[in-house]
Amino acid sequence: MPWRSCTSAWWLDWLAPLDCVACGADVRSGAGCAALLCADCQALGAARALPSVGDAAGVPVVARAPYAPPWSLAVQRLKYGGRPDLGARIGAGLAPLLAELGGAPGLVPVPMPPGRRVARGYNQAALLARGLARAAGVVLLPPALRRVDPTGTQVGRGRSERLAAAAGAFVAVRPVAGRVVLVDDVVTTGATAAACVGALRGAGADVVGVIAVARAASELDRGGVDENWGTSGPSGA
Ligand SMILES: [Zn+2]
Repeated sequence: MPWRSCTSAWWLDWLAPLDCVACGADVRSGAGCAALLCADCQALGAARALPSVGDAAGVPVVARAPYAPPWSLAVQRLKYGGRPDLGARIGAGLAPLLAELGGAPGLVPVPMPPGRRVARGYNQAALLARGLARAAGVVLLPPALRRVDPTGTQVGRGRSERLAAAAGAFVAVRPVAGRVVLVDDVVTTGATAAACVGALRGAGADVVGVIAVARAASELDRGGVDENWGTSGPSGA
């Protein structure tokens, strides 16, 4: 499967800010292909043990690093640092993981709660998936999943949505055919990924794996804040 770790058009690299995705140091190489991490962050990352491959609903979950510096910093800059542009670069760097899963023609990002998406202005998982799709030459599928608010009113919901809400889960909004890979920024317990995999299977998809930037051992690793449900909701990570 063809993939690139950087943009192929050198002038795009010169137009875009090319800083270390974790610490912001300049990584512009002058060769039209900048590294994602500066030398210091690369050394820091190399010292971390690679996360073990887990599974969610029976499919492999692969992450490029543990949720620790430098990649935890990169995820935080993408999500909270007002740097949606980092999504394309970090996502492109996930291409080897897609090859590890045997490839898939379609990618599906984990959706955010609508309110959070409006507040942030973007879904980081979708930006990662877009960058990965471009680098790997595969398709970012149109939105296929919707998150069901477990605390919202049940009025107006169909039976499947009520059941999904009760489980703190997701529903598919359209049929999905063929092999797909789910993309998220951080995987912790795998519960969110498993719920998404289940919804995608119900929509007809053959889910071959889950790709994340980082894998956290527990919610404490992520600062105790569950991105998916907030600080008081059920764990959905
Ligand atoms: Zn750095």
